[in-house]
Amino acid sequence: DLAPLPEPVRTTCPYCGVGCGVLARPDGAGGAGIEGDPEHPANFGRLCSKGSALGETLGLDDRVLHPTIAGARVTWDHALDTVAERFRRVAEAHGPDAVAFYLSGQLLTEDYYVANKLAKGFIGTPHVDTNSRLCMSSSVAAHRRAFGSDTVPGCYEDLDQADLVVLVGSNAAWCHPILFRRMLDARAKRGTRIVTIDPRRTQTGEEADLFLGLKPGTDAALFSGLLVHLAETGAVDERYVAAHTAGFEAALERARAIAPDSAATAALTGLAEADVRHFFELVRTTPRVVTAFSQGVNQSAQGTDKANAIINCHLATGRIGKPGMGPFSLTGQPNAMGGREVGGLANMLAAHMHFAPEEVDLVRRFWGAPRIITGEGLKAVSLFEAIERGRIKALWVMGTNPAVSMPRADRVRAAMRSLDTLVIAEAVATTDTVRVREDAIVLPALAWGEKDGTVTNSERRISRQRPFLKAPGEARADWWMLAQVGRRLGFAKEFAWPNAAAVFREHAALSGFENAGSRDFDLSGLADITDAAYAGQRPVQWPLPRRTRTSEARLFANGGFFTRDRRARFVAVQKPALADPTSAAFPFRLNTGRVRDHWHTLTRTGKSPRLSAHRAVPFVEVHPDDAARAGLREGDLARVRTPYGAAVLEVMVTPGVQPGVLFAPMHWSEATASAGRVGALAQGAVDPVSGQPELKATPAAIAPE
Ligand code: SF4
Repeated sequence: DLAPLPEPVRTTCPYCGVGCGVLARPDGAGGAGIEGDPEHPANFGRLCSKGSALGETLGLDDRVLHPTIAGARVTWDHALDTVAERFRRVAEAHGPDAVAFYLSGQLLTEDYYVANKLAKGFIGTPHVDTNSRLCMSSSVAAHRRAFGSDTVPGCYEDLDQADLVVLVGSNAAWCHPILFRRMLDARAKRGTRIVTIDPRRTQTGEEADLFLGLKPGTDAALFSGLLVHLAETGAVDERYVAAHTAGFEAALERARAIAPDSAATAALTGLAEADVRHFFELVRTTPRVVTAFSQGVNQSAQGTDKANAIINCHLATGRIGKPGMGPFSLTGQPNAMGGREVGGLANMLAAHMHFAPEEVDLVRRFWGAPRIITGEGLKAVSLFEAIERGRIKALWVMGTNPAVSMPRADRVRAAMRSLDTLVIAEAVATTDTVRVREDAIVLPALAWGEKDGTVTNSERRISRQRPFLKAPGEARADWWMLAQVGRRLGFAKEFAWPNAAAVFREHAALSGFENAGSRDFDLSGLADITDAAYAGQRPVQWPLPRRTRTSEARLFANGGFFTRDRRARFVAVQKPALADPTSAAFPFRLNTGRVRDHWHTLTRTGKSPRLSAHRAVPFVEVHPDDAARAGLREGDLARVRTPYGAAVLEVMVTPGVQPGVLFAPMHWSEATASAGRVGALAQGAVDPVSGQPELKATPAAIAPE
């Protein structure tokens, strides 16, 4: 009993974008003891319920252990030869853009980098998108419109140093728990007030000093009204606006047209005018304000405008990039940010570059890429529609489960069945996507605890995921599989990395290649990192350029935006309107989201009885008045229908949802609860700027089952 504990391996939690540091002590039998890393600056030793239960999710049940084609075990060589040959054949017959990749915010940056390079530089297809499209892409688009780059201006310390934290469309108490605890600590220490803005009264709303339960889809009206109020009460930082921004007057004029005063704001949002005025005054009188926003803002057909309406208020007051101040996008997934860094979205090229001719030329020369693409590819929803139409013939899915998580998931399943070739790199053998067709090529991927690479959290901090378990069966790293296919397509030299460290060095070097400060993402300070230094690399924030070799925790306090004139842009946002009206047949709005103790489609958290006990079955929250009218009681089964699908869910009666609104979590799949899939119900109308689908307001009906 007194034997010394084994040395812990420092790694990073694989769940949310907080990116907590974890100490894992392998037990030699395939398991590990898990603790928070006291030295990691995201969590200082704390873990939430999901992170602390990681040790319960490490079993090898249900793993993909060998490559298979049409269910038959094959060698790695045969599987990789087949993938390369099928992709080559499709590209020759239908053009390289008949090949597509659908990636994941669960992948490591090194995996993402190699997928992006293979597709965009060497196969010559622009169709590389990711489940981050469903998560963060409206924030990305809003950052780009405002700052000229996808830069989160602040850091987690701002939450410790703010006097007012405004949470918009975020149930941080459940979805970013360790950051929420930092906010509660700040309240205890310095009296920080917390405002929660959300149509649903979540745990985060319960704990707020002020809860604003606005009507679904009206966030931009509230922040338009706030911008008007700030302008009319002398709270605008005239010096900052004049020196570092453009477009203020046009944005203000539009805001006035939407919400000219607190009464109009209250009418649009359904809030009490006194609450609106209280909120406006709190913001006006509190210099240190952080506005943190998440999926309630992003997962909307007007998500980009919502985020820009928030950013407008911070630019107008000059409250950006200073201690305790700034707009703060809370990333959903563990490596949504890392995927953005390498270009793993269809509208990016690489290293935060897009498709200006000089950027395409720069990346072409750096990669030595013969087939570099010159324009954007299809974003997730359009990508699966192109598969449905037969335009895309071959798809490689990595580390994600679109048969469950995509809106209109039934159509997505049918589309995948129509492909010429479906390649799935997966750790879990029984996901709905793996089972979508019998002839898929399934490649065994490493899981958390086996992978080696980096992830980037919401504050631009890059941390290592380190292996502490033996790779099971023949499982291999995603970047390795991709590189092997690249080599088989004739690019041996360009895909010759010996390890993840070498991939990381190339990625860091590209970020600094001919970058004299004109691009925000610069990690060239790590471009010559040795294998040993990579192995021991501590968490570090970007930018980290070679010329200074120092990180920056905050940006833009003194301007220096990444637009051509170095000025930020105010955005004149559209008047809020939901994409699809309710009707007599579908009178409710269906909101989807997460629960505290589950993650994505349950492939990991579903293994922990402790986590599953929190919410054991798929359910729907219904307001008491609606439940009474529909003849539904707590615990009944109800059928929820939308124009796109139906699910049977257990009724939870709660005043936390507004009358006329239903809420159902998105975690359950055919593999875990055949009738409880909610992704099939979502409408998925896309934001015109970001392409992110609406997952929060689908017209719906409910009736007893
Ligand atoms: Fe993991 Fe997020 Fe929980 Fe931290 S807050 S332990 S990153 S799930």
